[in-house]
Amino acid sequence: MSEQNLFDMVKRHLCSCSTDIAMDENIEAVLKMPRREIHVSIPVRMDTGTIRAFQGFRVQYNDALGPTKGGIRFHPDETIDTIRGLAALMTWKCSLHNLPLGGAKGGIICNPKELSIHELERLSRAYVQAMYPFLGPDRDIPAPDVYTNPGIMAWMVDEYSKIAGKTTFGSFTGKPVALGGSEGRLDATARGGWYVIREAARDLGLELSGSKVAIQGFGNVGSFAAMLGQEVFGARIVAVSDSHGGIYNPDGLPVRDLVTHKSENGTVVHFPGATHITNDELLELPADILIPAALENVINQSNAPRIRARIVAEFANGPVDNDADEILFSREIQVLPDFLANGGGVIASYYEMVQNFNMDHWEEEKVHRKLERKMTDAYRAVHTLALQNHVPLRRAAYTIAVSRVVNAMKMRGWV
Ligand code: NAD
Repeated sequence: MSEQNLFDMVKRHLCSCSTDIAMDENIEAVLKMPRREIHVSIPVRMDTGTIRAFQGFRVQYNDALGPTKGGIRFHPDETIDTIRGLAALMTWKCSLHNLPLGGAKGGIICNPKELSIHELERLSRAYVQAMYPFLGPDRDIPAPDVYTNPGIMAWMVDEYSKIAGKTTFGSFTGKPVALGGSEGRLDATARGGWYVIREAARDLGLELSGSKVAIQGFGNVGSFAAMLGQEVFGARIVAVSDSHGGIYNPDGLPVRDLVTHKSENGTVVHFPGATHITNDELLELPADILIPAALENVINQSNAPRIRARIVAEFANGPVDNDADEILFSREIQVLPDFLANGGGVIASYYEMVQNFNMDHWEEEKVHRKLERKMTDAYRAVHTLALQNHVPLRRAAYTIAVSRVVNAMKMRGWV
């Protein structure tokens, strides 16, 4: 796997769009640094009675457009530079999708698979206690990300509300529907991504019905990408994988059975009637659409020349590194950039906040309708600019997103 640092990748993309928007180098320097970083040590009592210290972060990258927003990851390999890169991507994502929000990201270095449910709850609550002064509906609003979920958001919003002395559902999103969560939030990232794929496929003359799709990662985003791809968009899911490995069947996999298999066995591996493949092999399969939906940097200089898909839809953040980006562009493989393609999650999170503020609850159909409109509009704006400037979609997306952030900073008198 390539060792490119996600934050460096994001800064290189920022540089490449600076000429397109005639950005002053001093403003560029401001945008290359997070506005605020919080590092905490979190002591947690383990079930054995011993105390263990965990390291936690929150990076509030830029709040020119509004309070910052972004997920919290629990991962053993988490690094501050990954969190910085992801927080910057959240800034561009909220801007590109025209949300009144800035960008942030958080994380704890831990392996949740090795923690008991009680240890996980104590760790989640302790993170909120440590970060409390910096969070809140008008400051910074976290959400689930890798290895965090609605249950963890429920503990976190409860802890926040206890400290605040009042129920404050708008302080976290991605909550269970019974606790102020929104209908349609759970599959919003994957659903939004499919709306973008649909538009791109239309532009490329690719028929979605029956198209072959390979998906890396079978968590929140990947499993819904598979289900929606098959059931709503008529695609054939030929391969999926998780951290244990992958499976392949060129005739298509029955996705609902696969979801059951994963929940019973903890992995998609050993699914009956499918061939075992590695995560690396999955990326190079003869598919029409490749959806990386796990971690960053998986498509790089070494495997980019062998990618066979027509569309690479980045449902994960940063799965295609800078070198691979250039290789794929030269090979006319359409890369749908992360902060465009996976914006559905934060859009539905924003709808969740709006409902919380108004003590309202929308029907799922309303969330889908509004999400479809926003994703389609963003794709069209990016695609039009990319054609006009003869640049990849990613560069056009950066141009739109960054120029809005710069304008907001100028209007606020920061630069
Ligand atoms: P998740 O924890 O639910 O799932 C992650 C999946 O990746 C799991 O299936 C896991 O087994 C797999 N995985 C882990 N390491 C792997 C490896 N080395 N090789 C292959 N698979 C591996 O996380 P998620 O919420 O589905 O997030 C996936 C990606 O999507 C991340 O990049 C995340 O930042 C991005 N994303 C998520 C959301 C959201 O709403 N959840 C929104 C935008 C972007």
